Amino acid sequence: MESIVEFYKKLPKKKCQSCGQVIEEKADCYGNICDECDHPAR
Ligand SMILES: [Zn+2]
Repeated sequence: MESIVEFYKKLPKKKCQSCGQVIEEKADCYGNICDECDHPAR
């Protein structure tokens, strides 16, 4: 039986829909944009 961690490791890396930068593993609440594009101050 595979762990949930192994399942997520096999997922393709996300890319920011705004700048195309690969998004590091993080909570899904950020959606499909990177920290730079998701910065609240912008
Ligand atoms: Zn971005």
